[in-house]
Amino acid sequence: MAEEFIRPAIKNLQEYVPGKTPEKAGVIKLASNENPFGPSPLALAAIIKESKHLHIYPDQKSIVLREALSKKLGVKSDNIIAGNGSDEIMQLAAATFLRPGEEVIIPAHTFSLYKTFTQIFDGQPVVVALNNLEQDLEAMAKAVTKRTKLIFLCNPHNPTGTYLSAKQLDAFLNKIPDNVLVVLDEAYAEYAEAADFPGSIKYLKTDKNILILRTFSKFYGLAGLRVGYGLAKPELISYMFRVKSPFNVNRLAQAGALAALDDADFKDKTYQNNVGGKSYLYAELDKRGVEYKKTESNFIFINLKMSADEMFLQMMKKSVIIRPLTSFGLSKAVRVSIGTKEQNKKFILALAGLLLA
Ligand SMILES: *Cc1c(COP(=O)(O)O)cnc(C)c1O
Repeated sequence: MAEEFIRPAIKNLQEYVPGKTPEKAGVIKLASNENPFGPSPLALAAIIKESKHLHIYPDQKSIVLREALSKKLGVKSDNIIAGNGSDEIMQLAAATFLRPGEEVIIPAHTFSLYKTFTQIFDGQPVVVALNNLEQDLEAMAKAVTKRTKLIFLCNPHNPTGTYLSAKQLDAFLNKIPDNVLVVLDEAYAEYAEAADFPGSIKYLKTDKNILILRTFSKFYGLAGLRVGYGLAKPELISYMFRVKSPFNVNRLAQAGALAALDDADFKDKTYQNNVGGKSYLYAELDKRGVEYKKTESNFIFINLKMSADEMFLQMMKKSVIIRPLTSFGLSKAVRVSIGTKEQNKKFILALAGLLLA
């Protein structure tokens, strides 16, 4: 087939690089920041019940789920769009707002899909370097030009675990012109402990061009179900509704997410385990002189003296799957999800074996 058959933007695309999946029993996966406790039990029960209705198309607008979110967050249903994972909402944002050639500002070494969706819709990615592994808001604000359309921020930031404070985010948004949409990816916000972590919902009560992304994949343990949502002013949401495929969130996903929202025990257990896991890992890594970043998320960023790919292979031999950050452009760093107590211990044991070897 003639090469011209493929759109030029697509020729340069990289396929998404996922975390490796365990192939045998006894291997633990700490590579994709999934919930170590499995799915929310209330979600599971709701999914089994809902499965009787699988011959019927799902609600095209995820009305019941959006109403529950609306009550929980104190915003209008019209502020919310549900998606097949929050990945879909990112894609919808690019599809709905981006014109060919418009610029999209993205932090360096970040979640790869921001760049992918920009490229798919013929946008121009403008990658801004991190400062001390943190998103550099000053440099990102300076990167805005007349052609800028979208800015992606990730808070807490994947893969470094760092966060933008309420004050930093406020100051940044005040500098951004009205014709630019800021996409604030909060996939891990539920894990944040910092007292000055932004309460971003307040921006929905203002006129700001902001699209907040949340997901049921991590904190609620539903990564395999594929459901997330976006929050923005009703006008922006209404255009995204026109673009989305009609039945984007399936029946099981709508029912499961709805039930998970109110699973207080599961949420509490997930949060407390993460808090405990963090302090355990900090102490163990400190003891061994391993360099890491303090995290507001459910994973920890570790700087290595060796190649990340080599570290990944060595850890695989010890039945622990971690995420080498080579595909993020960081060849000497890894990201490790915070697991259960037992998993964290297994990771530290494997790491200690490597350090001694
Ligand atoms: C995991 C993750 C998501 C969630 O994606 P889903 O499509 O909702 O599963 C979004 N953004 C970042 C940065 C993530 O790490």
